[in-house]
Order: sequence, then structure tokens, then C-alpha cells
Amino acid sequence: MPQVTNLADKIEKQLPAELVAFIKQAGELADGRGEKIYLVGGAVRDLLLDKTNLDIDLAVEGDAVAFARELIKGKGGKITIHRQFNTAKISWHKWSIDLAAARRESYARPGALPTVKPGSINDDLFRRDFTINAMAVGLNPQTYGHLIDPYNGQKDLGDRLIRVLHEKSFIDDSTRIWRGLRYEQRLDFQLEAATLNLLKRDISMLYSISGNRIRYELECILQEELPEKVLRRAGELGVLEKLNPSLGGDGWLAEKYSYARQMSLPHKPPADLYMALLTYHLTDKEREQFISYLRLPKPAARILRDSGSIREKIKELADAAMKPSSIYHLLYGYSPQVITTGIIADDAEESRRNMRLYLNKLRSIKPLLGGNDLIQMGITPGPRIKEILNKLLDARLDGKVKTREDEEGMVRGWTND
Ligand code: ATP
Repeated sequence: MPQVTNLADKIEKQLPAELVAFIKQAGELADGRGEKIYLVGGAVRDLLLDKTNLDIDLAVEGDAVAFARELIKGKGGKITIHRQFNTAKISWHKWSIDLAAARRESYARPGALPTVKPGSINDDLFRRDFTINAMAVGLNPQTYGHLIDPYNGQKDLGDRLIRVLHEKSFIDDSTRIWRGLRYEQRLDFQLEAATLNLLKRDISMLYSISGNRIRYELECILQEELPEKVLRRAGELGVLEKLNPSLGGDGWLAEKYSYARQMSLPHKPPADLYMALLTYHLTDKEREQFISYLRLPKPAARILRDSGSIREKIKELADAAMKPSSIYHLLYGYSPQVITTGIIADDAEESRRNMRLYLNKLRSIKPLLGGNDLIQMGITPGPRIKEILNKLLDARLDGKVKTREDEEGMVRGWTND
């Protein structure tokens, strides 16, 4: 990869014209305010890799919130401010641009959130996770396009290496362990030898991180094109077992994730589906530990629990002669997402066929007659109505009735008994 010192051309070529104009205006505004502004983080890395990345992070040496307010004036965008962190998010047309004050960070103890103080762009780069993410590009007119690369991130990009900035990096913040694996697998890079040793040395520091933060990292992994690569690597290095000792990132998972992608087309599989497959073989107790450790929100926890319970039912579904009404009652109450998990995870063709039948057809079947029709037919309102409707549903599911008249005839047969 040829080394470059100015990224102005790359910005011009790779970012949409509207966004280029926007960041140029930001540079001019910074000049007017006597401040400096930089493009930072993943966008710089991806410019150098010639990959499209429209997640724009800007660092301001100064007051990011006041800056963002002035920048958006007259443009008609929306702005969300976090005064406490001196950050602002601008939503403008279809773009989202994050602005933060350049800052210095220190860690009172491993795994704690950092103490933040205003700082220079160099301080801001020093707090970052890996050399390839610790580069900035000047945007003020005088320095437009200049690359700032104090840790030779560009060289590491060329050598395809993930390298931490200092030997306490994983101790300060061990979410970087997961982040490192994510970048390594996404970019087809390698953890640089000393970084790999530090990762192994500091692996138990993962316990110093709150479950919420680990969940966030896992969710980021599940947004990747091929999350199974990251999970396999995490399994290999003993990182996955820190989530739960019984988790495996082996070939089964790779096969099922690929199937999940096929089933979800044209979309990406939702993170909950990937997570349900990851935890599919855990015992109930292990699953509960996983849920409470990661503080999964209720809907996600429910999908995981139901996926565990459907696994038990699937054994009964492995029967080619099963009546549709029996399939219905076995699967009733499970969400489509949970049934999809079952279809992907199970290997018995019969069970899969029965689950598909439920998902595509049975679950939306209803009797043609309703409660009022039954009352009009002379049935006394009360529990008997529900009973008859259930029997009608079964008859319809099993193809014993087709028309409204069939249903009425059947009801008369029952009520004349
Ligand atoms: P992605 O392509 O996955 O969005 P990104 O590099 O934009 O990657 P973000 O999670 O959006 O990643 O973070 C933006 C930048 O903030 C990173 O490039 C990195 O420099 C820095 N960063 C994020 N998390 C950490 C962390 N835990 N420790 C140090 N630096 C971090």
C-alpha cells in the first residue's frame, strides 16, 4: 500500500459531494472560530483502505457542542446534544455526523469508564484502541487533508496488523479485546504478535467490564457481515468462554449463521436470531446466566428462552404423519422469530417441514364462523362458545371443513348431540 500524507484526493473520490462540501464548511467554520477540526477514527482508516464508510466522526479542539450548533445553522438538520460528554450528533439529510471535543482520558481502575478532560488531537488519538483507528485528518483550510498518524497506523494497515497503542490497553478497557477480534476478522488482518500476547495475558480482565458494555460489543459483532468468524476466533483464544464457558464458536455455528442469512434475505438476520443460535445448546441454567450477565432486554431474553424451549418440542415434531392441528397446538404462542430459529437450528427434515408449515400457513388459519355467528345459531354465550371455536379451528386446520356451510353443519352436529 503506497504511503500517503494527504487524503484530500481520497476524500473527494470516496465521499459523496454533499458530505465533502459539509466537512469543508466545518473546516472553514473552525478557522473562523479559532478552533481546529479533524476527521477521526474509522472513517480515516477506511479512506486509506479505499472502503466506503459514511460514519463520519469529527473531533474539535474546542467546544464541540457550540461548534455543532453553529455548523447546523441555516442547514435545517437535527442536532442531539450530550453536554456532559461535550458531544453532538448532527442528522442532516441522510447523513449522520458525530462531533466530539478532542479529549484526554485516564482510567481510575481497570474496566471503569474513563475520566475525561479536554485535550489536543494527539491526546485524543492516544486514547484510542488500535493504531489503525488512531489517525486523524485535518479539515481546516490550511491543513485540509493532512494525515496525522502518530502510531504508524498507515503502516499497520499495509501490513494488515491490529496493534494496541500501549501495553496497558486491554487492562484499561478490555472491551478492546472483542473490538480487536472484530476488526481482525472483518478486515482479514492479524493481531500483531505482541498485541496477541497482551490479549492472552489480560483475557481475565473481561470480567472487569459491565455486562452492558460486553453486550454492546457482542451486538456490534452480530452486525458484521460474517459474525461467525469473530466468534470462532473468540472461541480459539478463550474469549468466548468468558461470556459463558459452554459456548462454542465451531463449525455448527458457521453453518447455521450462513443458513440464517439465507432465510433472512433480502435483510441481514436480526441480532436476536444470531444470539438465539449462539445460545441454542446451553442448558436453561446457563442461558439464564447469559441473559442476566449481559442484561439482555426483555424481548431478547424471551427469544432466547423460547428458543431453548422450542428445542424440546422439536423432538415431537419429527413425525411425518403429524396432524396439522397437533403441530399448531405444539407451536402456538412461539413468535415467528423463535420458530425460524428452530428451523435453522434443527437437523431433522420432518421437524423443519412441520415448522415451516406452521409458519407459512397454519398460524394464520382461523374458523370462518365467529362468536356472534354461534350465538345467532342459538348457542348460549359462555365458555361453550370458546370450546366450539377451538374445535372448529382444529377441523379447519385438518381440512375437515372448507366452507362456511361445512362449519355450520359441523356445529349443528355437535349441538344436536
Ligand atoms: P466501525 O467501522 O466498526 O464503525 P469505528 O472505528 O467507526 O468502527 P466506533 O465504535 O464507531 O468504531 O468508534 C469510533 C472510534 O472511537 C474508533 O475508531 C476508535 O478510534 C475509538 N474507540 C471506540 N471504542 C473504543 C475503545 N473501547 N477504546 C478506545 N478507542 C475506542
